[in-house]
Amino acid sequence: MFESLVAEDHEPTHAEVTGWLRQLMTEGIRDAVADDFEELLALHAIRILALVDLPSARLAALHQRLRELMRGIENERLRRLAPFAFGTYSADPLPLEARLLHATQNGIGVQPRTLRNYLGPLASVMADRLLWLEERLRYNSWLNRPFDEELHDETLRQYDFLSAMAFWIEGAKLDAEAALSAVDEEEFRDYAGSALWRWTRYLRIAHRFDEAFQGTWSFRKDSKADLSEAIRSSWDAQTVPPLGPRERSVLRVELLAALQEELHPFLRLLESQHEGTRIIDKWLGWLRACDCQDEPSPECMVHRFLREAQTFYENINMEISEHHRTDRAARFQTLPDVHEP
Ligand SMILES: [Zn+2]
Repeated sequence: MFESLVAEDHEPTHAEVTGWLRQLMTEGIRDAVADDFEELLALHAIRILALVDLPSARLAALHQRLRELMRGIENERLRRLAPFAFGTYSADPLPLEARLLHATQNGIGVQPRTLRNYLGPLASVMADRLLWLEERLRYNSWLNRPFDEELHDETLRQYDFLSAMAFWIEGAKLDAEAALSAVDEEEFRDYAGSALWRWTRYLRIAHRFDEAFQGTWSFRKDSKADLSEAIRSSWDAQTVPPLGPRERSVLRVELLAALQEELHPFLRLLESQHEGTRIIDKWLGWLRACDCQDEPSPECMVHRFLREAQTFYENINMEISEHHRTDRAARFQTLPDVHEP
C-alpha cells in the first residue's frame, strides 16, 4: 500500500492536510496506526525525518514533526490546546473527550465542549505550516537529493568551523576598513571596537577549530582553493595585529564571559579592567598608525591584516560552495535556510 502511494506522490491540498490532522486528533497520536494515515505519512515533510523508510519510522517522524509544528503556533490558546488535541502530552492513549477535559483542567480557560470548536482552526494553522514546508522540500527535490559520498562527515564538520571563521574575519576586515575611513573620532572608535570584537570571535572559533582538529586541514582533491594559502592566511590574520598570544587569550576569555558574547558587554568588560583597557588602546593605536592614502603601503601592517583576511575569506568560499552546504543538510536531515513563514 505504501509503495503505490509513493509511486504516485500526490501533492496534497490544504483541505486534505487539514482533514488528516483533524482525523489524527480524533484518533490520538498514541492510538494512530500507520495504515490509517498513509497519505499524511507520505508527505516529504514527514519522510525526510525518517531514518529508514518503514511505516513505523514514518510514524515516529510524524511525532517529531508535530512537536515542531506545535511550537510554531502563534495563537496562544491554540498552541496550548495542541498537545491535548493530538495527545502528545500523555504516554497513554486517551480518547479525545478525556484529552479535552484535561486541557480544561489545565487552565486553558474554555470548557471541553467549546474546545471542540478550536480543533478545526488548529488543524488549519498547522496545515498552513506543514504545506509551506512540503512545497519547499518538493521544489528543491530535497527528499531524493543524493549526497557526495567522497565528502566525509568530518570534512563537513570542519567546514562548519571554517565558514564561521571566514564569516567573522571578513566582518572584522569590513569594520576595520570603516574605522580607517571614519569621519570623526566617535565613528572611528565605534568601528574599531566592533572590529576588535569580530576579530576576537574569529580568534575563538579558530582556537576551537585547532582543538577539535589539532591542526589537520583537508580540502577536496579537486579543490580550486589553495589549501596552504588558506592555512597561512588564517594564521597571519591572528598574528599580524600587535597583540601577542597572551593578549589574544585575554580577549578569548573575556568574550566567553561577556553576556551572549555580544559587542557591548564584551567592550564593557575589557574597559572595566586594566589589562583590557591596555589591549583596546593598543588596538586603536595600531589602526591609527595606518596613514596610507589611495594606495596601501606594502609596509603597512593594518593593510596586510586586511589582505590576509580577504585571502582567507576567498579561499574558504572557493572550497565551501553552496553545493556542500546543501549536501550537509541532506546528510544531517536539516534545512539550512528555513525561516519562519
Ligand atoms: Zn595602511
